[in-house]
Amino acid sequence: MNGIPVFDGHNDTLLNLHLPNRGEGRSFFERSRLGHIDLVRASEGGFGGGFFACYTPNPEDDGWNEESALTVTEDGYEVSGAPPLDPEYARDFADGLVRDLFQLEKESGGALRVVRTADELEGCLREGILAAILHFEGAENLGSAPGALETYYEAGLRSLGLVWSRPNVYAEGVPFRFPSSPDTGPGLTPAGRELVAECNSLGILVDLSHLNEKGFWEVAEISEAPMVATHSNAHALCPASRNLTDGQLDAIRDSDGMVGVNFAVAFLREDGGESEDTPLETVVRHVDYLVESVGINRVGFGSDFDGAKVPGVMKDVSGLPRLLAALREAGYDEAALKKLAHENWGRVLRSTWRG
Ligand SMILES: [Zn+2]
Repeated sequence: MNGIPVFDGHNDTLLNLHLPNRGEGRSFFERSRLGHIDLVRASEGGFGGGFFACYTPNPEDDGWNEESALTVTEDGYEVSGAPPLDPEYARDFADGLVRDLFQLEKESGGALRVVRTADELEGCLREGILAAILHFEGAENLGSAPGALETYYEAGLRSLGLVWSRPNVYAEGVPFRFPSSPDTGPGLTPAGRELVAECNSLGILVDLSHLNEKGFWEVAEISEAPMVATHSNAHALCPASRNLTDGQLDAIRDSDGMVGVNFAVAFLREDGGESEDTPLETVVRHVDYLVESVGINRVGFGSDFDGAKVPGVMKDVSGLPRLLAALREAGYDEAALKKLAHENWGRVLRSTWRG
């Protein structure tokens, strides 16, 4: 690995490898033309690791998928709300992804490690070992009481999104809409409040990406940890429901939290569109805006690799050095680049985790 290692707030690589129609049987350990992250391209791109999401898609038999639920509107789009998941299905599916991650760790022969402490994370970045954080994107798999969290914590879970873009027993996620405010529905349930407290007491990061605005403000009120959106952008530049308003950014700054800049073109572009013909300058503009809003110590990356369409010039994880070059060109010095690339994640995780 050469250059500055990039540690990143979000990827959907586990799902991409897991679903045969997505990963098409590619291996994490061999270079592929499919997907965004494998070990070979990760090393080329200086990818030091990141949050590996366990995300459970709606099962085919409930008839919902992002494509069929999409309506194009006059000035954007609206994806009708995803129905809640059956908790037992969610648990089985997410447990499968958890097993996949530990299997990757085992098969990697020391090249990938699931990290549980800030020291482990820093050690991996120093030694060029790919650091993986076990993250749940949506808490459906915990069932209706947050008690199961402790078992997963012991297994290695260190980050949890209360919701994906659908409702569950804890909270409501934002449906994908453009243009739209993130204020799309009710806030946390009593079980959701309990879950936040449980995360605080175990030292599990509470991820706010995908949470609607009412839920966000309730977390701001009750959580003792820094406010973190692992993969979201600036609503002022791209008014998608998934992005953060200026008020939300203020709350993130005031809690000394952070934002991971999402490379999904739909959350970057002013027009909310899906065109891969999106220059890296668009990513740089979001970084600039977020740095201006929350400070250089509170911005990192949250690529959404293997889960979204990214700018064509980025291509995949091997394109990260091109982004760093674009940021350097835009005036970020080496110290600032290190903060964006991994140091800020290290700081926030150190203050969130117990150890
Ligand atoms: Zn996501």
